[in-house]
Amino acid sequence: MDPKNELKPATLAIHAGEGVRAPGQPVAPPVVQSATFLWGEPGEGELLYTRYGNNPNQIQVARKVAALERMEACAVLGSGMAATAMTLLALTESGDHIVASSRLYGATGTLLAKELPRRGVETTFVDPFEGDWEAALRPRTRVVFLELPTNPTLRIPDPRPVVELAHRRGIPIVCDATFASPVNFQASSVGVDVAIQSATKYLGGHSDLIAGVVSGPKAVIDRVVAMSHLYGPSLDPHAAWLLDRGIRTLDVRVERHNRNAMEVARWFDGRAGIDAVVYPGLPSHPDHETAKALFRGFGGMVGIVLAGGAEAADAFVGALELAFAAPSLGGVETLVSQPRHTSHRSMTPEARLAQGIPDGFVRISVGIENSADLTADFERALTRV
Ligand code: PLP
Repeated sequence: MDPKNELKPATLAIHAGEGVRAPGQPVAPPVVQSATFLWGEPGEGELLYTRYGNNPNQIQVARKVAALERMEACAVLGSGMAATAMTLLALTESGDHIVASSRLYGATGTLLAKELPRRGVETTFVDPFEGDWEAALRPRTRVVFLELPTNPTLRIPDPRPVVELAHRRGIPIVCDATFASPVNFQASSVGVDVAIQSATKYLGGHSDLIAGVVSGPKAVIDRVVAMSHLYGPSLDPHAAWLLDRGIRTLDVRVERHNRNAMEVARWFDGRAGIDAVVYPGLPSHPDHETAKALFRGFGGMVGIVLAGGAEAADAFVGALELAFAAPSLGGVETLVSQPRHTSHRSMTPEARLAQGIPDGFVRISVGIENSADLTADFERALTRV
């Protein structure tokens, strides 16, 4: 491993994976917008081709993310879903079985429940708070899959007992920790084998690219890369360059997201018209202690529940002047969305309520604007409600 990998995240985010230091070399890496590369003699050296993930921009960002995750290797791909899909395809074959948390990003849940069965891979879903992980394991279980914090209630199932169980049974554990980012939660520190991030969110950080990363042991990442040779979800060099550029400020951005979100959560807490505030940094959150034990910061995501229900939530979101009403998260700008209209729209109100998502629920991806400007925007919107 690169000796630079011993450095702290803020430094790694800038220097890990950097090119040769020599007079005349650029400080900022160039965009190598080339699909293919010159070859030497037949059979000599590695074949370089951008779909193979070995374009210089892809390599640079992959080394950087591996260093941040403190993992051996990383594959950088065309979306967070590509990262999840290629990982699961790489780790399983027909007849195999996966045990996954029942609280997953919607497309991940659909991939497991509907798509992988078409390839002969079945999944048993386990409620990460009340379910029995051990009872779900089978002789051909090849992956245990977790996601934390969950969307949108920001629950943080403690991964440590699940990791211990999976390892006792020799099964790799894969964790999507997109909502935390590797700055707030380093999955490898609790023994997670393979860490997935939708780099579209905090890693990229500017809502201007779609990308995904998978980090883990080199043997696993080689299989993920081999799978992506076939399915082809490679990241364009320019997007890889943008991602590398975004990651350079990851540490300071996340620090500011954490601080702003805490201020926003405290500002909403107890305010008239607000029934509940969901934020792992508040002692009222059911997983506050787990977050304190495992996370460096409580993150940039906040949930609020408007007392006036669906109508109030629509009016509140419609009245915002600074925050954008848009799905996604992790960008510099504050985004608000309502699970009822987006990620959870296919569920009945009763089913959503059972998951802790009443109709008045508004999810806020708190950006890095001035927090007083943000709360002034929220106050104005609440007054109009
Ligand atoms: N994982 C989580 C937790 C997400 O929230 C998302 C997208 O919102 C994804 C994965 C998928 O990422 P992408 O949109 O980059 O494919």
